[in-house]
Amino acid sequence: MIRVLSVASECAPLIKTGGLADVVGALPHALTFEGVKMTTLLPGYPAVLSAVAWGDVVAEEDDLFGGPAQVQRARAAGLDLLILRAPHLYERDGAIYLNAVGKDWSDNPERFAALSWMAARLAAEGLVEVDVLHCHDWQAGLAPLYLREMGGTGRIGTVLTIHNIAFQGLAPASRLDALHLPQWAFSQSGAEYWGQISALKTGLVFADKITTVSPTYAHELTMPEFGMGLEGVIRERAGDLSGILNGIDTDAWDPARDPAINSYDAPAGKAANKTALRAEFGLPDKDGPLAIVISRLSDQKGLDLLIEALPGFLALGGQLALLGSGDPALETTFTALAGREPNVAVHIGYDEALSHRMMAGADVILVPSRFEPCGLTQLYGLRYGTLPLVALTGGLADTVISANDAALKAGVATGWQFSPITAPALAGALGRMVTLYADPAIWKKMQANAMAHPVGWAGSAPQYGALYRSVIPAT
Ligand code: ADP
Repeated sequence: MIRVLSVASECAPLIKTGGLADVVGALPHALTFEGVKMTTLLPGYPAVLSAVAWGDVVAEEDDLFGGPAQVQRARAAGLDLLILRAPHLYERDGAIYLNAVGKDWSDNPERFAALSWMAARLAAEGLVEVDVLHCHDWQAGLAPLYLREMGGTGRIGTVLTIHNIAFQGLAPASRLDALHLPQWAFSQSGAEYWGQISALKTGLVFADKITTVSPTYAHELTMPEFGMGLEGVIRERAGDLSGILNGIDTDAWDPARDPAINSYDAPAGKAANKTALRAEFGLPDKDGPLAIVISRLSDQKGLDLLIEALPGFLALGGQLALLGSGDPALETTFTALAGREPNVAVHIGYDEALSHRMMAGADVILVPSRFEPCGLTQLYGLRYGTLPLVALTGGLADTVISANDAALKAGVATGWQFSPITAPALAGALGRMVTLYADPAIWKKMQANAMAHPVGWAGSAPQYGALYRSVIPAT
């Protein structure tokens, strides 16, 4: 049995801003059959404190980055948790990374350094039994260095997973002491990034192994177009880097048993959901494909390209329903579009149940991301027979079989990919999609292919198991 301490700033279903939470919440279940016992260390945000059943206190601190703290065991949603209770860091109104006016909390470096520091202490001092520390994103990036400073290296292996390299956890060099970081590590070959402290880079340098969430993103990260300044560091560690595709929770996302929808186990069952979805969004009943977007509204997601390509799609008879929130400018533009286009409807906000109803009722899910480490919504789409139309990048490249001539002849297509990632290329793919929508035989075959495509953890769980075994130091 390998004992893994997974360290993360979010974990579904307790606290979520994106795909990171889904994956952190799914891994413990997915890895049970790989001989892995995973415990997840999470910050004690108010939403977490109110949702768990409490167990023992395993560690206490009089002064953890400015206030008292303790780590307490807990259970929720079938997960074994360790909650870092530090009111001065985590118990506040607002979002988990952002304050009431939408800016990063100014003490985010300390808040997540504290999480990383505590993870290292729990492991190094044997306060919980740990063979491997699995650190997720910059918020856990300092843990491998802290572990080394505490003398835990050589007994405990470390893995860092990059869920999105756009977030790097930068802090001014003046906070080196405040973050309990050793001076020796503040160099170009260590924690320093252009004169600042980078938590993500620190993890990239000091973790035994690095993973990211798809094979294509692993390759892309070595290139300047995608590495966001860290491509050189990643290239140096190429021998220790692998891409392991995310899976989805196939119980929570199962069209045959989903309580949020009119359940179905064959594509024909989508019709009732489509009617309901159009009614819910106030879209007219007519021929033509209904496309959806479920997304954070940010530059990464390429939705400005969709705004450009949309008139052509609408002229071909398409409809669009969008659920999302984020960038105020994008929120305003989409809301205005919905105001003047009868075949466009928009729901600004975050709504898990609505996302299930949309997935069940739509014909196509659009994911035109400029970069996408893995992407989960195209996987939900496959499972629900909602064909993904995606940019050819990252995990979108690894999970969708594009309906080109060869794939159609071989009868294996599950969606569409477009490249380069531009509005005209997206418009072209939307046009090809509408053409195939007019051919029910091909469309049904593609839906059947999509619904049969493996999107769970069966393929990836053994890869994590093997990775953990590879970093456990020989004793
Ligand atoms: P990212 O992590 O970059 O946001 P992913 O596709 O990996 O993108 O994961 C996004 C997750 O968040 C998915 O589970 C998706 O369904 C969900 N999601 C995003 N926006 C919303 C929303 N507005 N309402 C409900 N769920 C959303």
